[in-house]
Amino acid sequence: MSLEEREGVEPLVGKACEVCGASLSEGEIRASLEAGGAYLCSVHAAEESLADPAQDPEI
Ligand SMILES: [Zn+2]
Repeated sequence: MSLEEREGVEPLVGKACEVCGASLSEGEIRASLEAGGAYLCSVHAAEESLADPAQDPEI
């Protein structure tokens, strides 16, 4: 067992969009990590960035 190799290292493969379940590319996974949110494909990541009700309520 070598936990040190795993610690602090996010695997950049095998992730899937939490909304649609699509397999994510390395770039999409990196973007999700940088955003600090859920793992999302490029489509849903774009929707998340557009839909931001807490920041800009229009009602
Ligand atoms: Zn998706």
